Amino acid sequence: MSTPPPLASDPDASAGPPALRPLLATVLDALRTGTRHRRGPLPAGGPDAVTARTRAALGEILPDHGDPDALRTLVTALAAGSADPAHPLCTAHLHGPPLAVACAADLAASVLNPSLDSWDQAPAASALEAAVTRALAHETGHADALVTTGATESNHLALLLARETQGPDTRLVHGTNAHHSLPRAAWLLGLPDPVPLPTPTGTLDPAALDHTLTRLTGPGGPGGPLVVAATAGTTDAGLIDPLPEIAGLCARHGARLHIDAAYGGGLLFSPRHRARLTGLDRAHTTALDLHKLGWQPIAAGLLTVRDPTDLTALRHRADYLNADDDTDAGLPDLLGRSLRTTRRPDILKIAVTLKTLGRDGLATLVDTVCARARDLARLVEEHPALDLWAPPALSTVLFRPAGAPDPAVAAVRRTLLTEGRAVLGRARPDGRLWLKATLLNPRTRPADLTALLTLVEGHTPR
Ligand SMILES: *Cc1c(COP(=O)(O)O)cnc(C)c1O
Repeated sequence: MSTPPPLASDPDASAGPPALRPLLATVLDALRTGTRHRRGPLPAGGPDAVTARTRAALGEILPDHGDPDALRTLVTALAAGSADPAHPLCTAHLHGPPLAVACAADLAASVLNPSLDSWDQAPAASALEAAVTRALAHETGHADALVTTGATESNHLALLLARETQGPDTRLVHGTNAHHSLPRAAWLLGLPDPVPLPTPTGTLDPAALDHTLTRLTGPGGPGGPLVVAATAGTTDAGLIDPLPEIAGLCARHGARLHIDAAYGGGLLFSPRHRARLTGLDRAHTTALDLHKLGWQPIAAGLLTVRDPTDLTALRHRADYLNADDDTDAGLPDLLGRSLRTTRRPDILKIAVTLKTLGRDGLATLVDTVCARARDLARLVEEHPALDLWAPPALSTVLFRPAGAPDPAVAAVRRTLLTEGRAVLGRARPDGRLWLKATLLNPRTRPADLTALLTLVEGHTPR
Protein backbone atom coordinates (compact mmCIF):
# COMPACT_ATOMS: atom_id res chain seq x y z
CA MET A 1 0.00 0.00 0.00
CA SER A 2 1.58 3.32 -1.03
CA THR A 3 -0.32 5.70 1.29
CA PRO A 4 -1.45 4.68 4.76
CA PRO A 5 -5.16 3.73 5.02
CA PRO A 6 -7.54 6.32 6.48
CA LEU A 7 -7.80 6.70 10.23
CA ALA A 8 -11.18 6.83 11.94
CA SER A 9 -10.44 10.20 13.44
CA ASP A 10 -8.12 12.67 11.76
CA PRO A 11 -7.15 16.28 12.48
CA ASP A 12 -7.60 16.82 8.75
CA ALA A 13 -11.40 17.02 8.65
CA SER A 14 -11.49 15.63 5.12
CA ALA A 15 -9.82 12.39 6.23
CA GLY A 16 -11.60 11.10 9.38
CA PRO A 17 -15.41 10.85 9.42
CA PRO A 18 -15.70 11.17 5.62
CA ALA A 19 -13.55 8.03 5.29
CA LEU A 20 -15.65 6.25 7.88
CA ARG A 21 -19.07 6.98 6.40
CA PRO A 22 -18.86 4.68 3.32
CA LEU A 23 -17.37 1.93 5.52
CA LEU A 24 -20.33 2.23 7.88
CA ALA A 25 -22.67 1.91 4.94
CA THR A 26 -20.81 -1.29 3.99
CA VAL A 27 -21.14 -2.62 7.55
CA LEU A 28 -24.86 -1.89 7.70
CA ASP A 29 -25.43 -3.56 4.30
CA ALA A 30 -23.38 -6.57 5.32
CA LEU A 31 -25.30 -6.92 8.59
CA ARG A 32 -28.55 -6.93 6.66
CA THR A 33 -27.32 -9.42 4.04
CA GLY A 34 -25.81 -11.79 6.59
CA THR A 35 -28.88 -11.72 8.79
CA ARG A 36 -31.10 -12.46 5.78
CA HIS A 37 -28.95 -15.47 4.88
CA ARG A 38 -29.25 -16.82 8.41
CA ARG A 39 -33.07 -16.64 8.50
CA GLY A 40 -33.49 -17.76 12.14
CA PRO A 41 -32.00 -16.93 15.54
CA LEU A 42 -28.98 -19.18 14.97
CA PRO A 43 -27.24 -20.47 11.82
CA ALA A 44 -28.51 -23.89 10.72
CA GLY A 45 -26.31 -26.96 10.55
CA GLY A 46 -24.47 -27.10 13.87
CA PRO A 47 -20.79 -26.41 14.61
CA ASP A 48 -19.21 -28.24 11.67
CA ALA A 49 -21.37 -26.53 9.05
CA VAL A 50 -20.92 -23.10 10.62
CA THR A 51 -17.16 -23.58 10.89
CA ALA A 52 -16.95 -24.68 7.26
CA ARG A 53 -18.97 -21.69 6.02
CA THR A 54 -16.97 -19.27 8.17
CA ARG A 55 -13.63 -20.69 6.99
CA ALA A 56 -14.80 -20.54 3.37
CA ALA A 57 -15.74 -16.87 3.72
CA LEU A 58 -12.48 -16.11 5.51
CA GLY A 59 -10.27 -17.49 2.76
CA GLU A 60 -6.64 -16.56 3.23
CA ILE A 61 -6.25 -15.00 6.68
CA LEU A 62 -3.18 -12.82 6.00
CA PRO A 63 -2.91 -12.53 2.23
CA ASP A 64 0.21 -11.16 0.57
CA HIS A 65 -1.83 -8.28 -0.81
CA GLY A 66 -4.80 -6.68 0.91
CA ASP A 67 -8.44 -7.35 0.02
CA PRO A 68 -10.55 -4.16 0.01
CA ASP A 69 -13.71 -6.29 0.30
CA ALA A 70 -12.65 -7.96 3.57
CA LEU A 71 -14.95 -5.78 5.69
CA ARG A 72 -18.04 -6.73 3.70
CA THR A 73 -17.06 -10.39 3.45
CA LEU A 74 -16.29 -10.96 7.11
CA VAL A 75 -19.14 -8.89 8.57
CA THR A 76 -21.57 -10.73 6.28
CA ALA A 77 -20.15 -14.09 7.39
CA LEU A 78 -20.28 -13.15 11.05
CA ALA A 79 -23.87 -11.94 10.81
CA ALA A 80 -24.89 -15.06 8.88
CA GLY A 81 -23.27 -17.22 11.55
CA SER A 82 -24.34 -15.33 14.67
CA ALA A 83 -26.69 -16.17 17.49
CA ASP A 84 -28.89 -13.08 17.27
CA PRO A 85 -30.04 -11.90 20.71
CA ALA A 86 -32.51 -9.57 18.99
CA HIS A 87 -34.35 -12.53 17.45
CA PRO A 88 -37.39 -13.33 19.62
CA LEU A 89 -36.57 -17.05 19.61
CA CYS A 90 -33.02 -16.46 20.92
CA THR A 91 -33.62 -16.80 24.67
CA ALA A 92 -30.96 -19.09 26.12
CA HIS A 93 -28.68 -16.91 28.15
CA LEU A 94 -28.28 -13.53 29.78
CA HIS A 95 -27.26 -12.43 26.31
CA GLY A 96 -29.29 -9.40 25.45
CA PRO A 97 -30.04 -7.35 22.37
CA PRO A 98 -28.13 -4.05 22.57
CA LEU A 99 -29.92 -0.76 21.98
CA ALA A 100 -29.13 0.96 18.69
CA VAL A 101 -28.24 4.19 20.47
CA ALA A 102 -25.76 2.38 22.73
CA CYS A 103 -24.08 0.76 19.71
CA ALA A 104 -23.83 4.15 18.00
CA ALA A 105 -22.19 5.56 21.13
CA ASP A 106 -19.82 2.59 21.19
CA LEU A 107 -18.72 3.49 17.67
CA ALA A 108 -17.71 6.93 18.92
CA ALA A 109 -15.80 5.23 21.74
CA SER A 110 -13.86 3.21 19.15
CA VAL A 111 -13.18 6.22 16.95
CA LEU A 112 -11.98 8.48 19.74
CA ASN A 113 -10.27 5.58 21.50
CA PRO A 114 -9.74 7.14 24.91
CA SER A 115 -7.84 4.87 27.27
CA LEU A 116 -8.83 5.14 30.90
CA ASP A 117 -5.45 4.44 32.46
CA SER A 118 -4.27 8.04 32.55
CA TRP A 119 -5.85 11.47 32.33
CA ASP A 120 -3.74 12.52 29.33
CA GLN A 121 -5.33 9.67 27.31
CA ALA A 122 -8.90 10.35 28.40
CA PRO A 123 -9.56 13.85 29.76
CA ALA A 124 -13.32 14.03 29.15
CA ALA A 125 -13.89 10.27 29.26
CA SER A 126 -12.38 10.09 32.75
CA ALA A 127 -14.56 12.98 33.94
CA LEU A 128 -17.62 11.26 32.43
CA GLU A 129 -16.69 7.97 34.06
CA ALA A 130 -16.21 9.55 37.47
CA ALA A 131 -19.61 11.25 37.35
CA VAL A 132 -21.63 8.38 35.88
CA THR A 133 -20.14 5.63 38.04
CA ARG A 134 -20.93 7.65 41.15
CA ALA A 135 -24.48 8.32 39.98
CA LEU A 136 -25.03 4.60 39.30
CA ALA A 137 -23.49 3.70 42.66
CA HIS A 138 -25.96 6.07 44.34
CA GLU A 139 -28.81 4.09 42.72
CA THR A 140 -27.68 1.10 44.83
CA GLY A 141 -27.20 3.25 47.92
CA HIS A 142 -23.41 3.05 47.54
CA ALA A 143 -20.72 5.72 47.23
CA ASP A 144 -18.67 4.78 44.19
CA ALA A 145 -18.35 2.21 41.41
CA LEU A 146 -15.66 0.78 39.14
CA VAL A 147 -16.29 -0.13 35.52
CA THR A 148 -15.58 -3.80 34.79
CA THR A 149 -15.86 -6.25 31.91
CA GLY A 150 -18.77 -7.92 33.69
CA ALA A 151 -19.74 -9.63 36.89
CA THR A 152 -16.95 -12.19 36.61
CA GLU A 153 -14.46 -9.34 37.03
CA SER A 154 -16.71 -7.56 39.56
CA ASN A 155 -16.96 -10.69 41.71
CA HIS A 156 -13.19 -11.12 41.54
CA LEU A 157 -12.62 -7.50 42.60
CA ALA A 158 -15.21 -7.84 45.38
CA LEU A 159 -13.31 -10.79 46.87
CA LEU A 160 -10.01 -8.95 46.40
CA LEU A 161 -11.38 -5.97 48.36
CA ALA A 162 -12.67 -8.39 51.02
CA ARG A 163 -9.19 -9.93 51.28
CA GLU A 164 -7.44 -6.57 51.40
CA THR A 165 -9.75 -5.15 54.08
CA GLN A 166 -10.05 -8.32 56.20
CA GLY A 167 -6.89 -10.32 55.54
CA PRO A 168 -5.70 -13.25 53.44
CA ASP A 169 -7.57 -15.82 55.56
CA THR A 170 -10.93 -14.37 54.46
CA ARG A 171 -13.25 -17.25 53.62
CA LEU A 172 -16.07 -17.11 51.05
CA VAL A 173 -19.49 -18.47 52.03
CA HIS A 174 -21.90 -18.78 49.11
CA GLY A 175 -25.04 -20.62 48.07
CA THR A 176 -24.77 -23.34 45.46
CA ASN A 177 -27.04 -21.00 43.46
CA ALA A 178 -24.17 -18.47 43.20
CA HIS A 179 -22.35 -17.80 39.96
CA HIS A 180 -19.42 -20.11 39.21
CA SER A 181 -17.07 -17.11 39.04
CA LEU A 182 -17.26 -16.61 42.83
CA PRO A 183 -15.57 -19.83 44.00
CA ARG A 184 -13.24 -19.46 41.03
CA ALA A 185 -12.23 -15.97 42.19
CA ALA A 186 -11.56 -17.37 45.67
CA TRP A 187 -9.26 -19.93 44.05
CA LEU A 188 -7.56 -17.26 41.95
CA LEU A 189 -6.97 -15.06 45.00
CA GLY A 190 -5.58 -17.91 47.07
CA LEU A 191 -8.35 -17.65 49.69
CA PRO A 192 -9.19 -20.59 51.97
CA ASP A 193 -11.59 -23.20 50.53
CA PRO A 194 -15.04 -21.62 50.11
CA VAL A 195 -18.02 -22.97 52.01
CA PRO A 196 -20.93 -23.74 49.65
CA LEU A 197 -24.42 -23.92 51.16
CA PRO A 198 -27.00 -26.13 49.43
CA THR A 199 -29.93 -24.15 47.99
CA PRO A 200 -32.63 -26.76 47.31
CA THR A 201 -35.30 -24.08 46.87
CA GLY A 202 -33.06 -22.04 44.58
CA THR A 203 -32.23 -19.31 47.12
CA LEU A 204 -30.03 -19.03 50.21
CA ASP A 205 -31.89 -20.12 53.33
CA PRO A 206 -31.28 -17.61 56.16
CA ALA A 207 -31.56 -20.33 58.85
CA ALA A 208 -28.91 -22.44 57.11
CA LEU A 209 -26.70 -19.39 56.67
CA ASP A 210 -27.09 -18.46 60.32
CA HIS A 211 -26.15 -21.98 61.33
CA THR A 212 -23.08 -21.99 59.07
CA LEU A 213 -21.87 -18.55 60.19
CA THR A 214 -22.29 -19.63 63.82
CA ARG A 215 -20.30 -22.81 63.19
CA LEU A 216 -17.52 -21.06 61.26
CA THR A 217 -17.04 -18.30 63.84
CA GLY A 218 -17.69 -20.42 66.95
CA PRO A 219 -15.44 -22.64 69.08
CA GLY A 220 -14.10 -25.53 67.02
CA GLY A 221 -14.66 -23.60 63.79
CA PRO A 222 -11.77 -22.51 61.58
CA GLY A 223 -12.16 -18.86 62.70
CA GLY A 224 -10.96 -16.10 60.40
CA PRO A 225 -12.93 -13.41 58.63
CA LEU A 226 -15.84 -14.25 56.31
CA VAL A 227 -17.34 -12.80 53.16
CA VAL A 228 -20.84 -13.93 52.23
CA ALA A 229 -21.90 -13.76 48.59
CA ALA A 230 -25.64 -13.48 47.93
CA THR A 231 -27.31 -13.33 44.53
CA ALA A 232 -29.99 -10.96 43.25
CA GLY A 233 -31.11 -12.74 40.10
CA THR A 234 -29.63 -16.22 39.83
CA THR A 235 -28.26 -17.19 36.44
CA ASP A 236 -30.34 -20.37 36.29
CA ALA A 237 -33.72 -19.13 37.46
CA GLY A 238 -33.58 -15.39 38.11
CA LEU A 239 -34.29 -15.85 41.82
CA ILE A 240 -33.41 -13.22 44.42
CA ASP A 241 -31.90 -14.34 47.72
CA PRO A 242 -33.61 -12.88 50.84
CA LEU A 243 -31.31 -9.85 50.95
CA PRO A 244 -32.50 -8.04 54.13
CA GLU A 245 -32.30 -11.24 56.21
CA ILE A 246 -28.86 -12.07 54.80
CA ALA A 247 -27.62 -8.52 55.44
CA GLY A 248 -28.87 -8.75 59.03
CA LEU A 249 -27.09 -12.07 59.59
CA CYS A 250 -23.83 -10.76 58.12
CA ALA A 251 -23.98 -7.72 60.40
CA ARG A 252 -24.69 -9.91 63.43
CA HIS A 253 -21.84 -12.34 62.67
CA GLY A 254 -19.37 -9.66 61.53
CA ALA A 255 -19.16 -11.05 57.99
CA ARG A 256 -18.63 -8.90 54.93
CA LEU A 257 -21.40 -9.04 52.30
CA HIS A 258 -21.13 -9.01 48.52
CA ILE A 259 -24.34 -9.11 46.46
CA ASP A 260 -24.04 -10.35 42.90
CA ALA A 261 -26.84 -8.40 41.19
CA ALA A 262 -25.46 -8.96 37.69
CA TYR A 263 -28.93 -9.86 36.46
CA GLY A 264 -31.39 -8.48 39.02
CA GLY A 265 -29.63 -5.11 39.37
CA GLY A 266 -31.64 -3.84 36.40
CA LEU A 267 -34.73 -3.82 38.64
CA LEU A 268 -33.30 -0.64 40.20
CA PHE A 269 -34.61 1.22 37.15
CA SER A 270 -38.19 0.04 37.72
CA PRO A 271 -40.38 1.76 40.35
CA ARG A 272 -42.62 -1.29 40.12
CA HIS A 273 -39.92 -3.89 40.89
CA ARG A 274 -37.24 -1.89 42.68
CA ALA A 275 -38.38 -2.81 46.20
CA ARG A 276 -37.38 -6.40 45.52
CA LEU A 277 -33.76 -5.23 45.82
CA THR A 278 -34.27 -3.85 49.32
CA GLY A 279 -31.12 -4.66 51.27
CA LEU A 280 -28.76 -4.09 48.34
CA ASP A 281 -27.44 -0.93 50.01
CA ARG A 282 -26.41 -2.94 53.06
CA ALA A 283 -23.83 -4.93 51.08
CA HIS A 284 -20.20 -3.83 51.09
CA THR A 285 -20.02 -4.39 47.34
CA THR A 286 -22.43 -5.25 44.54
CA ALA A 287 -21.95 -6.45 40.97
CA LEU A 288 -24.17 -5.00 38.22
CA ASP A 289 -24.16 -5.95 34.53
CA LEU A 290 -25.73 -3.44 32.18
CA HIS A 291 -25.14 -5.81 29.26
CA LYS A 292 -28.00 -7.83 30.79
CA LEU A 293 -31.03 -5.82 32.03
CA GLY A 294 -29.44 -2.62 30.69
CA TRP A 295 -29.43 -3.41 26.95
CA GLN A 296 -25.77 -2.49 26.42
CA PRO A 297 -23.36 -4.06 23.97
CA ILE A 298 -20.81 -6.21 25.83
CA ALA A 299 -19.13 -5.15 28.09
CA ALA A 300 -20.85 -2.96 30.65
CA GLY A 301 -20.12 -4.23 34.16
CA LEU A 302 -19.90 -2.30 37.43
CA LEU A 303 -18.67 -3.04 40.92
CA THR A 304 -20.23 -0.69 43.46
CA VAL A 305 -18.63 -0.05 46.86
CA ARG A 306 -20.40 1.27 49.92
CA ASP A 307 -17.23 2.57 51.57
CA PRO A 308 -14.95 4.26 49.01
CA THR A 309 -11.91 3.87 51.27
CA ASP A 310 -12.03 0.15 50.39
CA LEU A 311 -10.71 1.19 46.99
CA THR A 312 -7.40 2.40 48.45
CA ALA A 313 -6.37 -1.27 48.22
CA LEU A 314 -6.17 -0.84 44.45
CA ARG A 315 -3.85 2.18 44.57
CA HIS A 316 -0.84 1.66 42.38
CA ARG A 317 1.98 3.79 40.97
CA ALA A 318 3.54 3.70 37.54
CA ASP A 319 5.61 6.78 36.94
CA TYR A 320 4.60 7.18 33.30
CA LEU A 321 0.88 7.04 34.14
CA ASN A 322 0.40 8.64 37.55
CA ALA A 323 3.63 10.16 38.83
CA ASP A 324 3.29 11.69 42.32
CA ASP A 325 4.15 15.17 41.08
CA ASP A 326 1.49 14.93 38.33
CA THR A 327 -1.08 13.78 40.88
CA ASP A 328 0.00 16.53 43.32
CA ALA A 329 -0.38 19.05 40.50
CA GLY A 330 -4.01 17.94 40.08
CA LEU A 331 -3.97 15.39 37.26
CA PRO A 332 -6.54 12.72 38.17
CA ASP A 333 -5.08 9.33 39.08
CA LEU A 334 -6.99 6.65 37.17
CA LEU A 335 -4.79 3.61 37.70
CA GLY A 336 -6.44 2.64 40.98
CA ARG A 337 -9.87 2.31 39.33
CA SER A 338 -9.16 -1.00 37.66
CA LEU A 339 -6.74 -3.92 37.54
CA ARG A 340 -6.57 -3.36 33.80
CA THR A 341 -4.28 -0.74 32.24
CA THR A 342 -5.47 0.17 28.72
CA ARG A 343 -9.25 0.38 29.11
CA ARG A 344 -12.14 1.28 26.76
CA PRO A 345 -14.61 4.03 27.73
CA ASP A 346 -17.56 1.65 28.24
CA ILE A 347 -19.11 4.42 30.29
CA LEU A 348 -19.96 6.43 27.15
CA LYS A 349 -22.60 4.03 25.82
CA ILE A 350 -23.99 3.66 29.36
CA ALA A 351 -24.21 7.44 29.85
CA VAL A 352 -25.83 7.92 26.44
CA THR A 353 -28.39 5.21 27.23
CA LEU A 354 -29.29 6.57 30.68
CA LYS A 355 -29.81 10.06 29.28
CA THR A 356 -31.58 9.02 26.08
CA LEU A 357 -34.09 6.69 27.73
CA GLY A 358 -34.40 8.31 31.14
CA ARG A 359 -35.82 6.54 34.18
CA ASP A 360 -39.20 5.95 32.59
CA GLY A 361 -37.71 4.56 29.37
CA LEU A 362 -35.55 2.07 31.25
CA ALA A 363 -38.40 1.14 33.58
CA THR A 364 -40.57 0.33 30.57
CA LEU A 365 -37.91 -2.03 29.18
CA VAL A 366 -37.47 -3.81 32.53
CA ASP A 367 -41.20 -4.07 33.17
CA THR A 368 -41.84 -5.32 29.62
CA VAL A 369 -39.41 -8.24 29.76
CA CYS A 370 -40.69 -9.23 33.22
CA ALA A 371 -44.26 -9.14 31.84
CA ARG A 372 -43.23 -11.26 28.83
CA ALA A 373 -41.83 -13.86 31.22
CA ARG A 374 -45.17 -13.98 33.05
CA ASP A 375 -46.91 -14.35 29.67
CA LEU A 376 -44.66 -17.27 28.76
CA ALA A 377 -45.21 -18.91 32.15
CA ARG A 378 -48.97 -18.64 31.69
CA LEU A 379 -48.78 -20.17 28.20
CA VAL A 380 -46.73 -23.06 29.63
CA GLU A 381 -49.21 -23.59 32.45
CA GLU A 382 -52.11 -23.69 30.02
CA HIS A 383 -50.26 -26.11 27.74
CA PRO A 384 -51.23 -29.73 28.39
CA ALA A 385 -47.88 -31.13 27.20
CA LEU A 386 -45.57 -28.79 29.14
CA ASP A 387 -44.68 -28.35 32.82
CA LEU A 388 -43.68 -25.05 34.45
CA TRP A 389 -40.97 -25.13 37.15
CA ALA A 390 -42.23 -22.09 39.09
CA PRO A 391 -43.68 -18.64 38.43
CA PRO A 392 -40.87 -16.42 37.13
CA ALA A 393 -39.16 -14.11 39.64
CA LEU A 394 -37.42 -11.99 37.01
CA SER A 395 -37.48 -12.68 33.28
CA THR A 396 -36.39 -16.35 33.28
CA VAL A 397 -38.89 -19.18 32.71
CA LEU A 398 -37.98 -22.84 33.27
CA PHE A 399 -40.20 -25.44 31.63
CA ARG A 400 -40.03 -28.96 30.26
CA PRO A 401 -42.08 -31.35 28.12
CA ALA A 402 -44.35 -33.15 30.60
CA GLY A 403 -43.19 -36.66 31.40
CA ALA A 404 -40.12 -36.47 29.15
CA PRO A 405 -36.93 -38.10 30.46
CA ASP A 406 -33.88 -35.80 30.79
CA PRO A 407 -32.20 -37.08 27.60
CA ALA A 408 -35.31 -36.10 25.61
CA VAL A 409 -35.24 -32.61 27.14
CA ALA A 410 -31.53 -32.29 26.26
CA ALA A 411 -32.26 -33.56 22.74
CA VAL A 412 -35.03 -31.08 21.97
CA ARG A 413 -32.74 -28.21 22.91
CA ARG A 414 -29.89 -29.48 20.76
CA THR A 415 -32.18 -30.22 17.79
CA LEU A 416 -33.54 -26.67 17.88
CA LEU A 417 -29.97 -25.33 18.09
CA THR A 418 -28.67 -27.48 15.25
CA GLU A 419 -31.59 -26.63 13.01
CA GLY A 420 -31.16 -22.97 13.89
CA ARG A 421 -34.83 -22.64 14.93
CA ALA A 422 -34.62 -21.54 18.56
CA VAL A 423 -31.96 -20.93 21.20
CA LEU A 424 -32.98 -22.21 24.63
CA GLY A 425 -30.81 -22.70 27.69
CA ARG A 426 -30.86 -25.49 30.26
CA ALA A 427 -30.84 -25.65 34.05
CA ARG A 428 -31.08 -28.28 36.79
CA PRO A 429 -32.73 -26.43 39.68
CA ASP A 430 -34.00 -29.65 41.27
CA GLY A 431 -31.74 -32.29 39.76
CA ARG A 432 -34.03 -32.67 36.76
CA LEU A 433 -33.19 -31.04 33.43
CA TRP A 434 -35.35 -28.04 32.47
CA LEU A 435 -35.39 -25.82 29.40
CA LYS A 436 -34.59 -22.20 30.15
CA ALA A 437 -35.95 -19.13 28.38
CA THR A 438 -34.30 -15.89 29.48
CA LEU A 439 -36.43 -13.04 28.12
CA LEU A 440 -34.35 -9.92 27.57
CA ASN A 441 -35.90 -8.69 24.35
CA PRO A 442 -38.55 -6.02 24.98
CA ARG A 443 -39.79 -6.35 21.38
CA THR A 444 -40.74 -10.01 21.76
CA ARG A 445 -44.50 -10.44 21.26
CA PRO A 446 -46.79 -13.01 22.88
CA ALA A 447 -47.15 -14.68 19.44
CA ASP A 448 -43.39 -15.35 19.43
CA LEU A 449 -43.75 -17.14 22.76
CA THR A 450 -46.51 -19.35 21.37
CA ALA A 451 -44.25 -20.16 18.39
CA LEU A 452 -41.42 -21.09 20.76
CA LEU A 453 -43.62 -23.54 22.68
CA THR A 454 -44.94 -25.04 19.46
CA LEU A 455 -41.35 -25.67 18.32
CA VAL A 456 -40.51 -27.37 21.63
CA GLU A 457 -43.59 -29.55 21.51
CA GLY A 458 -43.00 -30.47 17.86
CA HIS A 459 -39.34 -31.41 18.37
CA THR A 460 -39.58 -33.42 21.59
CA PRO A 461 -38.65 -37.04 20.86
CA ARG A 462 -41.43 -39.41 21.94
C1 LIG B 1 -23.89 -13.15 34.09
C2 LIG B 1 -23.62 -13.36 35.51
C3 LIG B 1 -22.32 -13.32 35.99
C4 LIG B 1 -21.13 -13.22 35.07
O1 LIG B 1 -21.08 -11.98 34.48
P1 LIG B 1 -20.23 -11.72 33.17
O2 LIG B 1 -20.74 -10.39 32.75
O3 LIG B 1 -20.58 -12.83 32.22
O4 LIG B 1 -18.81 -11.73 33.55
C5 LIG B 1 -22.12 -13.40 37.35
N1 LIG B 1 -23.15 -13.54 38.19
C6 LIG B 1 -24.42 -13.62 37.76
C7 LIG B 1 -25.53 -13.79 38.76
C8 LIG B 1 -24.70 -13.53 36.40
O5 LIG B 1 -25.96 -13.62 35.97
